[in-house]
Amino acid sequence: MRIGVFVCQCGTNIAATVDTEAVAEAAMSMRDVYHAESIQYSCSDPGQRQVIAAAHQHRLDRVVIAACSPRMHETTFQRAVIQAGINPFMLEMVNIREQCSWIHEDREVATTKAIDLVAAGVARVRGQVPLKRGRVPVVGEALVVGGGIAGIQAALDIADAGMPVTLVEREPTIGGNMARLDKTFPTLDCSSCILTPRMVELKHHENIRLMVSSEVTAVRGYIGNFEVDIRKKATCVDEEKCTGCRICEEKCPSRAPDEFNAGVGESKAISIAFPQAVPLVAALRKEHCRQFIKGKCGVCKKVCPADAVDYEQEDELHTEKFGAIIVATGYRLFDWEGAYPDYGGGLYPDVITSLQYERMLSASGPTGGHIVRPSDGREPRDIVFLSCVGSRAESVGRPFCCNVGCMYIAKQAIQTREHLPDSRCYVFYMDVRACGKGYEEVYRRAQVEAGAVYLRGRVGKIYPRGDKLVVMGTDTLIGDQVEIETDLVVLAVGFAAAEGAGELARRLNIAYDGYQFFTESHPKLRPVETTTGGIFLAGACQGPKDIPASVAQASAAAAKAIRLLSREDLETSPMVAEVNHMRCIGCFKCAEVCPYNAIEKQKLHDGRTVAVIIESLCQGCGLCNVACPPQVISLRGYTDNQLISEVVEVLR
Ligand SMILES: Cc1cc2nc3c(=O)[nH]c(=O)nc-3n(C[C@H](O)[C@H](O)[C@H](O)COP(=O)(O)OP(=O)(O)OC[C@H]3O[C@@H](n4cnc5c(N)ncnc54)[C@H](O)[C@@H]3O)c2cc1C
Repeated sequence: MRIGVFVCQCGTNIAATVDTEAVAEAAMSMRDVYHAESIQYSCSDPGQRQVIAAAHQHRLDRVVIAACSPRMHETTFQRAVIQAGINPFMLEMVNIREQCSWIHEDREVATTKAIDLVAAGVARVRGQVPLKRGRVPVVGEALVVGGGIAGIQAALDIADAGMPVTLVEREPTIGGNMARLDKTFPTLDCSSCILTPRMVELKHHENIRLMVSSEVTAVRGYIGNFEVDIRKKATCVDEEKCTGCRICEEKCPSRAPDEFNAGVGESKAISIAFPQAVPLVAALRKEHCRQFIKGKCGVCKKVCPADAVDYEQEDELHTEKFGAIIVATGYRLFDWEGAYPDYGGGLYPDVITSLQYERMLSASGPTGGHIVRPSDGREPRDIVFLSCVGSRAESVGRPFCCNVGCMYIAKQAIQTREHLPDSRCYVFYMDVRACGKGYEEVYRRAQVEAGAVYLRGRVGKIYPRGDKLVVMGTDTLIGDQVEIETDLVVLAVGFAAAEGAGELARRLNIAYDGYQFFTESHPKLRPVETTTGGIFLAGACQGPKDIPASVAQASAAAAKAIRLLSREDLETSPMVAEVNHMRCIGCFKCAEVCPYNAIEKQKLHDGRTVAVIIESLCQGCGLCNVACPPQVISLRGYTDNQLISEVVEVLR
């Protein structure tokens, strides 16, 4: 056994805090180490050549690189050791940057710790054996979860590349939040005019299967080979038969909240969300339907000319295989009411959200495009916009920026002047963030053309006075209190993750942050990948985003998925579980916990039935190791002996 240790200086990233020469010198005294040196940039071409040359010169058969995270450069160094004739799995990376130099200031302490970490790495690589990768075929179809603009874009891009896609949307129509918008910044063009052609294109695309009113309930498998359970909820309407005539909706006697219109106005228990819905098919909500609540009604069934209403319809369960998954489940507005009692906490009808205002501005919305006060249906003259309600607000636990509030307030102020030329708009803001292309111009238009008065400061209280509302705030530029009597208040409420996002993340086995936005694999270098191979992110499900950014990310995610799906097979990691059949007691606790169905029973010649690992399915997650009562399962590359010897070195 001949081990080489290479200690990277990473410029001054490591060398400023860790004495890399001293670490190399200490390594030379470790058992089986035949060569150790400090290298300025080990990942650079000359650095790698130095490793290869030393490996040849000292006839090394194992290598320890003390540098950065293996997530950054393990593949780089695996390639280098292969060139030196060494099996790529006889390499151990020790992270003395993130785990040492970046987190310590004291050079002596950091150097001592680096030596300990290197000693642990040497101990671990000593127990390593050469391993060989396998290959598994890739299922050539993609799943897109969520049918907002991001999901639509991703599905179309993949389908246009000639690959089959299934898009699963939990609402009865695709379109997401963009379908609720009237006009869109920065160009102020009509939202439906640019969105609905894409929705229709998706519906009719030969490579796309659209599943609405559907949700992903379970995900098994791994990159290239996911097995997904999808539940299609019963909507009591046969999608094939429904012609979208809306007679059922017209005649339905059961009222229901209008979720599409953000609660402005009412809907019916059986309805179509909006005129351009795709598919243009009615859906019945049992919780609001007399037929289901009282057991009698049946009006919709009687009046339907297509005989499409079916009260007996049941949920359908589908299990499908996919090679790649794109998650595009978007956002909802932060639930502001409980957090802002000083703004009336939802009690004042004339304090509305920006999304409700958007629906009011829309010609296809509940007020037919007329701006009115919900309390009395009158046109308002004074309108106050409040930015950052539930965003950039530490006090309510929402410290992050919503990314779009400043811009859509400017947009809505411009639109307000177009709808009501005599109106006056006031905007309370923290700072105006108008960083995208053409965004500053929209902000200027709001001030100059629409005459919106911008007041820098937070609003402390909103309260009623007669039939008006009083908005009390501070103008921090003049350093004084301001009080505005107004007819309508529009709150620019911040983004929250879609309902159930955390649960979906757990099903998909992807990471999410404290606000349930899904976490990208690397914020700069892998912004659309998740930490689970083969699952990508698109749009506002990853964090607040506007439409251009959502579309760009969706196309990037689609490109990643296409790259994966266009391969016939994938290399698998050889770091899989292994069962010692001599000692296996055949309890199959391992098979119960295996998320990849990678363990099967096998009868041996001696009559015993033991657990056998299907190597092409095993992902080396280690769950079976832990669950095995007699502890006879080990993970290649992570055997108990290797891990214990590593720990012993650190504690020595
Ligand atoms: C008031 C307001 C005005 C705005 N105006 C503009 C503007 O003018 N210009 C601009 O660029 N941006 C604007 N935005 C931002 C814009 O709405 C978003 O950028 C865009 O909608 C993000 O698209 P998305 O597809 O990521 O998410 P969404 O539009 O939220 O779509 C997500 C979809 O996923 C579905 N879904 C959720 N969970 C699941 C699940 N578990 N399973 C299946 N499906 C699921 C949802 O039903 C939805 O259809 C505005 C936002 C607001 C609040």
